[in-house]
Amino acid sequence: MKLSELKNGETAVIVRLSGHGGFRKRIMEMGFIRGEKVKSVLDSPMHDPVKYHIMGYDVSLRRAEAEMIEVLPEEEAKRELGPAPSFSCLSVCEECNGCACRNCTQRKVTTKKNNVINVALVGNPNSGKTSIFNAVAGENEHVGNYSGVTVDAKTGSFNYKGYRINITDLPGTYSIAAYSPEEIYVRRHLFDKMPDIIINSVVASNIERNLYLTTELIDMNLRTVVALNMYDELLASGAQINYEHLGAMIGIPVVPVIAKTGKGLDKLLDIVIELFEGRNSTIRHIHINYGNTIEGELAPLSEELHKADDLPYQFPVRYWALKLLEQDKEVTNQLQHCLALPHWQSIAAKSAKRVQQRLNIDVETAISDAKYGFINGALQETYTAGSKDTNKQTRRIDRLVANRWLGFPIFIFVMWVMFATVFQLGTYPQEWIEELFAFLGNQAATLLPQGLLQDLVVNGIIGGVGSVAVFIPQILILYLFISLMEDSGYMARAAFIMDRLMHKMGLHGKSFIPMLMGFGCNVPAIMATRTIESRSSRIITILVTPFMSCSARLPVLVLFAGAFFPNHAPLILISLYILGIIVAVLTARLLRSTRFKKDETPFVMELPPYRLPTLQATLRHMWDKCEQYIRKIGTTILIATIVIWFLSYFPRPAEGTQPGSDNYSSSYIGMMGRAIEPVMEPLGQNWRSSMAILTSIPAKELVVSTFGVLYSSDTEEGIEEDLKESGDFTPRSAAAFLVFILLFFPCIATIATIATETGSRWWAFFSIAYNTAVAWIAGYIVYLIGGIF
Ligand code: GDP
Ligand code: MG
Repeated sequence: MKLSELKNGETAVIVRLSGHGGFRKRIMEMGFIRGEKVKSVLDSPMHDPVKYHIMGYDVSLRRAEAEMIEVLPEEEAKRELGPAPSFSCLSVCEECNGCACRNCTQRKVTTKKNNVINVALVGNPNSGKTSIFNAVAGENEHVGNYSGVTVDAKTGSFNYKGYRINITDLPGTYSIAAYSPEEIYVRRHLFDKMPDIIINSVVASNIERNLYLTTELIDMNLRTVVALNMYDELLASGAQINYEHLGAMIGIPVVPVIAKTGKGLDKLLDIVIELFEGRNSTIRHIHINYGNTIEGELAPLSEELHKADDLPYQFPVRYWALKLLEQDKEVTNQLQHCLALPHWQSIAAKSAKRVQQRLNIDVETAISDAKYGFINGALQETYTAGSKDTNKQTRRIDRLVANRWLGFPIFIFVMWVMFATVFQLGTYPQEWIEELFAFLGNQAATLLPQGLLQDLVVNGIIGGVGSVAVFIPQILILYLFISLMEDSGYMARAAFIMDRLMHKMGLHGKSFIPMLMGFGCNVPAIMATRTIESRSSRIITILVTPFMSCSARLPVLVLFAGAFFPNHAPLILISLYILGIIVAVLTARLLRSTRFKKDETPFVMELPPYRLPTLQATLRHMWDKCEQYIRKIGTTILIATIVIWFLSYFPRPAEGTQPGSDNYSSSYIGMMGRAIEPVMEPLGQNWRSSMAILTSIPAKELVVSTFGVLYSSDTEEGIEEDLKESGDFTPRSAAAFLVFILLFFPCIATIATIATETGSRWWAFFSIAYNTAVAWIAGYIVYLIGGIF
């Protein structure tokens, strides 16, 4: 029977996995292994994907992928699989006799004598790494409750008991294999940077799957301490764990912590120092026993490796042997310089074949099975599951949120509340800021003598910066929502219910999260695509994200919608957002049907339990974004405003001519605007709006400040009135302008991010050309349609 045939509420036992290597490896590390019980919990509103419960947590899987997992009812499975493989759990490393010091097993590293400790945080997505990081380093790194908020490593430093501790928050991974970009990133970090100590955060309430990663750290013989995080959840479930005994068994100290409140973190740091000073009695270098067959193949391979003197010292010989046997892709990179590599690979390939023949499963499966066997053995003696069903609440909420009939309405309602609040509630503080800047302008005008300086300060700096600063409240509210959705766990549900639709675009439900974040800012959104394993899906998502109208475009849209469509402003805004989405969908389909024809990466996504967002984390996130925006105002926007003012003030008109807005037509800015005017004319644009499009390239908010400078009048009215009175725009050309700005590439920073994230300038260039062309064509069409009315 196939897993996909299981009905909601039914339970079965996994007996076999098929599908290609990457798929199998991926779902094995997520806990889908032979002999494991799995329950089908809930279909998403469109029936695909399905939420399954396995190893004490929830995961979302597409039907097509569930088809590759063969299951049987419990009784039958028992007969088919026989008794669970039992391993004499472990053995102490013979070479170092378990001492686990850095000098053992070829590690010719001199322990640093200074008092700087480099620590790396490693753990599953959502295991609380960032929470630990924030609690100890006090950084404003964002904390979120869905897989992949931490898309880049972040380092912080602090002093503790006479030591300077540098701590790096690495991306979350389920293992340190080489299938996803994060995994490769983590592995390279451990290899290249050689952190002194690893803090492995393990979710106490989901310990079995989380320890899988720990077994890899054991293989790597890194000096590790396990932070048994979310210990509060474990206690609440009534479970019991003898963590000291567990630590002694696996040769790694285990410290219970509650990162959210900071409890236990002192003890954790004490152990870090103990490990660094080499006076911890728990740490031992142990070997996980992979069973006779695999051990039998590992021995001769290790012997061969020992002969070489160019083997990297970072990891022990046994680790390299294991990875060679698994025919790991990354290892070929890391051992490239070894002369004997081809020789080893041919030995390993033969070994792998023999394992396959003898065990009737491939090496990777056999090793995963053994790892879980080891974990089970260790937990059997130290862990008692709780009797309280702590998952009940999450299940209840999910039944509502992912309900067949209610799922989408709830989702749309949440989105609507978000945008309505941003636009409605945001206008009040916006007016205060407007008044503040008007006041400042007046003060400056009275204090400074009339002339160049006054003009620069009043019209250039205060006017330009003020017109951008008024959007701070909107941005704060937007991030309040994004932050709440991430921290509560709703964001992952959004991906769950959207997967079927996203799949139709040729994307993953996971692409939905970056695209949604794109409404905030394209830069972090594009970086968030790192959670997407499939390269093609990832590139497509990166290229369509700029069509999501970011918060920097919001000021322009609000200004124009308010000025030229005063009675339908919200409708216009929503239509623009929807237009952006439609263009994104069409672009994705176009790319999927031309450049990227195939995609086979599995959609396995953890659905974390709902957690109450903490006020502190939410405020931190909001402040973080707000600070970024203010910094942008203080730097890029301020400089650009002054440049624009300069370009529009000079050259000065001859003495005697009437001052006025027409002076700009002879200024530098006018010349540049005029130069591109012919291109923009079919869209009903004049040189001023053409100029604004040019100035929007560094940042979209600059459109508003450009108009602020270009149309500033001495009247008390805002820029909105000035624009209307200028007579430069009709609703028709205003609509074309709105559409152009919406679809035009967002900013330099986004383009730079595209280049780094795709690893190719070509895609960055493509994005510029494609978005500009699409913007022009769509603007032209809107202008034509506008002509009909
Ligand atoms: P990361 O993905 O590993 O960086 O994990 P985060 O630090 O972003 O945390 C994921 C979620 O777990 C957030 O919603 C946190 O509020 C929550 N969390 C972190 N530590 C604890 C804890 O000790 N107890 C509980 N109950 N929740 C926690
Ligand atoms: Mg994180």
